[in-house]
Amino acid sequence: MGPPGAGKGTQGELLAGRKGIPRYSTGEILREAVREETPLGLEAKRFMDAGELVPDEVILGIVDEVLGRPEAAGGFVFDGFPRTVVQAEGLESSLRRRGESLDAVIDLVVPEEELVRRLTGRRVCAACGGVVGRASSSERCAECGGDLVQRPDDRPDTVRRRLQVYREETEPVLRWYRRSMVPVVEVDGLGTAEEVHAALVQRLDR
Ligand code: AMP
Repeated sequence: MGPPGAGKGTQGELLAGRKGIPRYSTGEILREAVREETPLGLEAKRFMDAGELVPDEVILGIVDEVLGRPEAAGGFVFDGFPRTVVQAEGLESSLRRRGESLDAVIDLVVPEEELVRRLTGRRVCAACGGVVGRASSSERCAECGGDLVQRPDDRPDTVRRRLQVYREETEPVLRWYRRSMVPVVEVDGLGTAEEVHAALVQRLDR
């Protein structure tokens, strides 16, 4: 968990890679559905472009499907989920039904002015969805050569709305977990990706 721009995608990928388990980003699953213009994508797009959350029942449907995948049996990292208390409760009952539970909730902490700086500078590949921290206007995707564009929801006014939604809807989820049995591991999200990853792993091992 962490506000938009905290580095959830990067850290989720590093952690999942280290543990040899899949990472599931609800945001990425939704963006792929938008690119492919599936019914899910068409429904989700208007919420995403406005910086609003996609309805809980849509997200919980995605998560239930993901949890049933064979590769998820050995563990998983969720990135950007749960974002509301209703989602956290839904996740808990899905896990309980499967006889599973969370090991930890990771909270990436980054000051707001740094979040705005990161988000408004970020570019993504229009073809494959790859993320670049900052890019010059002539740069292309290093993976597939696609065009680098700004995510529609990384425009300044939408960024402000996403941060507000995070404070209103998602911070209560952290308070909810702090009252539960699941340990909440706070990690300083400032520094290079490798520095943050090292600190995160050290905290988790402890
Ligand atoms: P992200 O890539 O995690 O920043 O997600 C991008 C956008 O997808 C968010 O601003 C929401 O509109 C939507 N989204 C992603 N995950 C969730 C979630 N767990 N609940 C509701 N909306 C979500």
